[in-house]
Amino acid sequence: MEAVLERTTDIPTIEGATGLWQMVIGLEIHAQVTSASKLFSGASTGFGAPPNSHVSLVDAAMPGMLPVVNGHCIAQAVRTGLGLEAAINPVSVFERKNYFYPDLPFGYQISQYQHPIVGNGLVQVDMPDGTVKEVGITRLHLEMDAGKSLHDQRPEATLVDLNRAGVALMEIVSEPDIRGPEEAMAFVRKLRSILRYLGTCDGNMEEGNLRCDANVSVRRPGDPYGTRCEIKNLNSMRFIGRAIEYEARRQIELIEGGGTVDQETRLYDSSRGQTRSLRSKEEAHDYRYFPDPDLLPVVLSDEEIAAIKADLPELPDAKRARFMADYGLSQYDATVLVAERASADYYELAAKGRDAKLVANWVISELFGALNRTGRDIEDSPVAPGQLGALVGLIQDGTISGRIAKDVFLDMVETGRDPDAIVEAKGLRQIQDTGALEQAVDGVLAANPDKVAEYQGGKVKLMGFFVGQVMKATQGKANPKAVNNILAAKLNG
Ligand code: ADP
Ligand code: MG
Repeated sequence: MEAVLERTTDIPTIEGATGLWQMVIGLEIHAQVTSASKLFSGASTGFGAPPNSHVSLVDAAMPGMLPVVNGHCIAQAVRTGLGLEAAINPVSVFERKNYFYPDLPFGYQISQYQHPIVGNGLVQVDMPDGTVKEVGITRLHLEMDAGKSLHDQRPEATLVDLNRAGVALMEIVSEPDIRGPEEAMAFVRKLRSILRYLGTCDGNMEEGNLRCDANVSVRRPGDPYGTRCEIKNLNSMRFIGRAIEYEARRQIELIEGGGTVDQETRLYDSSRGQTRSLRSKEEAHDYRYFPDPDLLPVVLSDEEIAAIKADLPELPDAKRARFMADYGLSQYDATVLVAERASADYYELAAKGRDAKLVANWVISELFGALNRTGRDIEDSPVAPGQLGALVGLIQDGTISGRIAKDVFLDMVETGRDPDAIVEAKGLRQIQDTGALEQAVDGVLAANPDKVAEYQGGKVKLMGFFVGQVMKATQGKANPKAVNNILAAKLNG
């Protein structure tokens, strides 16, 4: 069964002083390739090592050194391209992009330009309202990272750390299909999820392993695209959203005030929440790209591509479709569960042999809530998937009510004990014995003769009060449905 997804149809707009505007956004993502060694050398990519301890002679651009392509990085790029439903180019070419930077010892960056390794692809972006929006991928190419200039170590000098120099990056370029900050953030979230499933980038934005440049323009609905500005190096989801929002408003005010947008590169200042100009189009570099004579074109055979394809894991979209079809989950629940591979795996283990929808509710609201509160990842959840499944089993077979189960769950989070052990130790079994329930009901009715009279005089809303009293009298251990039935029989009979 193929799950039918609801598509996003409305296009977000911004209200200006003179009417409505639309935003047009294309993103360029730099994703660090998961690889033990660099793109053109055997040096380690380990994070957090002492400065300049992971630098080979190639990375330092010593004269006469020759780059050698790391085959694993090539395979990772192909894997990513396949995960983005993209065309893989059988021949791609590394070129030199020439510019000067203190932390770029070559004087050029080895990148791909005219012939990238991956062409057009597509990402299904999950919007917070549960709809899906498609964003095209223009290309993905491989390039090497630069080093890092350290300006805050010595008052009189800038120091250079080359540990990062030569680390493989995938630059993933989107089509200008994105229409607002929400969509941009959702796109990056989904892309990150796919990369993490594939194991080609860990998506760690704090360590700078996933960074984003945002191209933003505005237009009147129906008009052709306007002139864009590019905001460089956004390193958190929140900054991506805020920078786009600010930049779109800036452009709208500029145009409404009679000005025009100049194509330029801008920086986002997160402390001020503003973007400011870095360089204009006129100052833009002419990089003088040309094929790197030290490197042969990368040639991929059909067999090599097919082998990588055969090795792909089930990706979030396929998993979501399966969760909807096999477990009967809503699109929303399935989307939440598959966002991370670890939570999807947890869910499947917990749902084995249980009411799958009920388990989904428990994972999404109670378990995720508890993990959030305690600041833990699902990998080190205090409640194992089998334990959560067992708890849902106790609700299903009527041993405890859903209400009591929440208390049991809190105990499980704190102590790691099994749910049935907690139920036994605390005497939380639901009262199955009708005699005992009748007794509790009789007690409540006898204690509230005035309320009984009011009820019988037509104030039927009091049923809730009686049920509540009985639940209280039984410390929540009565089955609410059974209580309702007994009360109705006694009050109406
Ligand atoms: P360049 O070669 O100057 O980087 P590209 O054509 O590669 O330009 O586009 C870079 C990014 O800008 C892409 O993500 C693309 O989707 C986006 N883009 C192109 N035109 C616009 C526009 N008018 N408004 C917003 N984004 C745009
Ligand atoms: Mg570009």
